Amino acid sequence: MPDRPREPTPSTRARALEILQRTWGYDAFRGDQGDVVVRVAEGGDALVLMPTGGGKSLCYQLPALLRDGTAVVVSPLIALMQDQVAALRELGVRARYLNSSLTPEARREVEDDLLAGRLDLVYVAPERLLNEPTLALLERIPLALFAIDEAHCVSQWGHDFRPEYLQLAVLAERFPGVPRIALTATADGVTRREMREKLRLEEARTYVSSFDRPNIRYQVTDKRNARQQFLAFYREKHVGDAGIVYAMTRKTVDRTAEWLQAQGVDALPYHAGLDREVRAAHQERFLREDGVVVVATIAFGMGIDKPDVRFVAHLDLPKSLEGYYQETGRAGRDGAPADAFLTYGLQDVVQVRRLLASGEGDEAYQRVTRQRLEALLGYCETSSCRRQVLLRYFGEDLEHPCGNCDTCLDPVPTFDGTVPAQKLLSTVVRTGQRFGAGHLVDVLLGKRTPRVERFGHDDVSTFGIGRDLDEHAWRSVVRQLVASGHLVTDDEGHGSLRVGPAAAPLLKGETTLELREDRAAPGTTGGRTAPAPRRREAAVADLDDDDDRARFERLRAVRTELAREAGVPPYVVFHDATLREMAVRRPRDEAGLADIQGVGAAKLARYGARFLAALAEG
Ligand code: ADP
Ligand code: ZN
Repeated sequence: MPDRPREPTPSTRARALEILQRTWGYDAFRGDQGDVVVRVAEGGDALVLMPTGGGKSLCYQLPALLRDGTAVVVSPLIALMQDQVAALRELGVRARYLNSSLTPEARREVEDDLLAGRLDLVYVAPERLLNEPTLALLERIPLALFAIDEAHCVSQWGHDFRPEYLQLAVLAERFPGVPRIALTATADGVTRREMREKLRLEEARTYVSSFDRPNIRYQVTDKRNARQQFLAFYREKHVGDAGIVYAMTRKTVDRTAEWLQAQGVDALPYHAGLDREVRAAHQERFLREDGVVVVATIAFGMGIDKPDVRFVAHLDLPKSLEGYYQETGRAGRDGAPADAFLTYGLQDVVQVRRLLASGEGDEAYQRVTRQRLEALLGYCETSSCRRQVLLRYFGEDLEHPCGNCDTCLDPVPTFDGTVPAQKLLSTVVRTGQRFGAGHLVDVLLGKRTPRVERFGHDDVSTFGIGRDLDEHAWRSVVRQLVASGHLVTDDEGHGSLRVGPAAAPLLKGETTLELREDRAAPGTTGGRTAPAPRRREAAVADLDDDDDRARFERLRAVRTELAREAGVPPYVVFHDATLREMAVRRPRDEAGLADIQGVGAAKLARYGARFLAALAEG
């Protein structure tokens, strides 16, 4: 605007930083945030890959405030929108959403606000955005940017595929000149290429953060009784914490939730077979109360912003490492210690193979899916650092073992498994490659079961030659040979085993094989080493001082009250980390309070007095 007096204009970055401090109450950008914000604020496109909890939202929320017009955020889940909008409004940002949950009047109100230029951001479900009337409405107003959240939903290979996402390509044609930013926590190369192509982001600059989540501790145990094992883990480390337990089928979800309730855990089921109201109520309790455990199929969790989920447990094998990484990533967004717990057994492998075989999709699709399954098995069976395996899968090299996964903390003994593997493989060959693990192990152990006798397998030369290992150890050998491709399960999913391509050299004695010795899992009896008990990492664990702790609890009570009054989840008022800093630093006035991370101008004005009063009490 040439007619205005010229002042030296502060750089985009300086203005961004100023808003970050004033509105969010944060000192500095994290990782790539600052670069992304500047890029988009200056009108460029961006593709942002950041792990869950990395701070993606700021990458578009802040440019929305820096640019003229309204920012349109495409988000696939209604619950996520509501939370994000609530959190933004708490910060004093003018945000609303448009989705099917609105009444016609409420929708018209949002539309009026849009036309009058009264909104900084509007969140829209993809199908709503793609409605012709919505597109036409957006063409009439100045737009700051488009943000496409959960952009991996465009990938047909992925488990979150949403057909509407493919149509988002029209934004490039209908709104040339409006910058677009796509964000995801899914990082593999295939998905990345698809996002770029299908969303027409050829010009976008790509920002890839490290996908490491150092505060998450990974643990995989051999499945014996998954619920019991989970309960033991929960009782040891997470009593009173919020967490998510994933299981594969609705039936297991229902049964597990019921069983956990009977054990005194505040557990609730969540899956697509439950009534919408029941699901909503369970999600609501999970978000608004402390210490609720949700047992769910993967239908739960995407778009859950709750920062203080302390553990994610998988009782069945997830479908892929991408899925696993995303699901476990829902733990510990606040950066405090969190656990990822997985139990897995041969049955899981057989079941996933069955799903694969019955799944639709062409050969290429099946091949990709199979490769992904193999990567997952490799992760489960590794005897080296799990984090290194995970990150390598996402194309990242972690130089040193992490020191915060089960194999680092409690190294797995390995043994020369060549001879047992040969015994097993010959048994498979000699019995005609049509039997499952149970029968093969019976033959190796020399058990004269009716089945063994019926097929005359007490006559094969390997009958009884495996008595040096017990049944459990044999099952572990089977699983590891399946994972390594020495054995393959039939694709019809009957569980019968054939020798795979890798078997021949091993049988001929040309190669050797290192196997891991399975440790006894918690919650089961027997075994060599019990896992060392670990300190429970509660929200207040790092407050050593009793007074600090008492103060923290008092602040937490104030927060609960304020959250209830405002009708938002407690963490939308302030995070635990913010309360903790208040408890320790004990600010006496507004200036001191404003200095705490997470206290921006709007929250200071709204809540400052209440928290200062609570601080003065002690
Ligand atoms: P993502 O969407 O990538 O999972 P979020 O945008 O929800 O992550 O951010 C994760 C958490 O980190 C949020 O609670 C957010 O308030 C916090 N956060 C984001 N950026 C910063 C920052 N620069 N400084 C401090 N905290 C931040
Ligand atoms: Zn490790």
